Amino acid sequence: MPSSKGYAAHDAKSALGPFNFSRREPLPSDIAIEVLYCGVCHSDLHMARNEWGNAIYPMVPGHEIVGRVTAAGTAVSKFKVGDIAAIGVIIDSCRHCPPCNRGEEHFCDEGPTLTYAVPDRVDGSITMGGYSNNYVVDERFAHTVPANLDLAAVAPLLCAGITTYSPLRHWKVGPGKKVGIVGLGGLGHMALKFAHSFGAHVVQFTTSLGKKDDALRLGADEVVFSKDADAMKAHTKTFDFILDTVSAPHSIDDYLTLLKQDATMTLVGLPEVPPSFGIFNMITRRASISGSMIGGMPETQEMLNYCGEHNIVSDVEVIPIQKVNEAFERLLKQDVKYRFVIDMSSLG
Ligand code: NAP
Ligand code: ZN
Ligand code: ZN
Repeated sequence: MPSSKGYAAHDAKSALGPFNFSRREPLPSDIAIEVLYCGVCHSDLHMARNEWGNAIYPMVPGHEIVGRVTAAGTAVSKFKVGDIAAIGVIIDSCRHCPPCNRGEEHFCDEGPTLTYAVPDRVDGSITMGGYSNNYVVDERFAHTVPANLDLAAVAPLLCAGITTYSPLRHWKVGPGKKVGIVGLGGLGHMALKFAHSFGAHVVQFTTSLGKKDDALRLGADEVVFSKDADAMKAHTKTFDFILDTVSAPHSIDDYLTLLKQDATMTLVGLPEVPPSFGIFNMITRRASISGSMIGGMPETQEMLNYCGEHNIVSDVEVIPIQKVNEAFERLLKQDVKYRFVIDMSSLG
């Protein structure tokens, strides 16, 4: 069994700390990687603190993983030892249901296997995430990384990147569309970069006045301080699409009123307390509220390739793993520019 070390949460209240464990024996279609970088997603915080009620401890979080292949099984064709490989939020699925056959493994009818804190389909052991020195995964669930991109800045693409790329593509964001991005954090700043790159007119909504210049630099055509009621009202009924990336409870109605007739607001943020909203703001414009979760394996690879072609990566603050608890606290204070990424060499 490959022996591993990482940082784990042992309950919902304590800080993460060093933890040794073992991973399953690699199968012929598996690769083993040495983890080089792992992004710190707000979902890691929600999960470690059991805010969604599905935690299994000990829990090694982390699902924005970039690493180097250290072993490749006999059936592996996509990677060889020494290659760079990337792993995101899911590491397996049933592989035979209609969504899996379409390459939408995240919508697997039997449920995908998450990168951490769920039973592994192969041996029933609890999956342990990327805040660790290695990972074992079937090559179908690992991605190649364009050679021109900085590896630390690539890591967040594996969750923040695909979670925003996918809905922006699905709802056909592009030239001639007015698009709102709510929240400028890890997901938000990737959404902003993609929406701008796709050619839309992008309005960034933020509760942090100090992020205005960054938002403009990252591609916003306009920045709206969402606590300013008059500034919000000026955009009434003008948006084709709004993507909400906020991690904490907030008003959805403030944004529904900004949608044009027949427009959609998609929620990707997953606050501990689910939102409520007024039906009148929907019926008066036939508005839709929708949700979206990461993306399938083909679309994740498409997104990485797109990033390679367009030189898009995350804006990162690289930290040693010893600072991961501090990073969690800073996420809660909206003090991240715009993704913490752990340099796993700090694990020692
Ligand atoms: P993050 O980096 O912490 O960013 C969240 C942003 O939300 C903050 O930077 C802040 O932006 C805004 N915000 C925070 N508290 C707020 C409040 N009380 N009122 C209004 N705005 C507030 O988090 P993230 O990693 O981007 O993740 C965002 C959410 O998406 C999390 O809930 C996460 O679990 C979820 N998520 C979902 C998926 C999916 O597949 N659907 C995938 C990954 C993550 P401003 O400072 O600009 O206001
Ligand atoms: Zn995530
Ligand atoms: Zn399936």
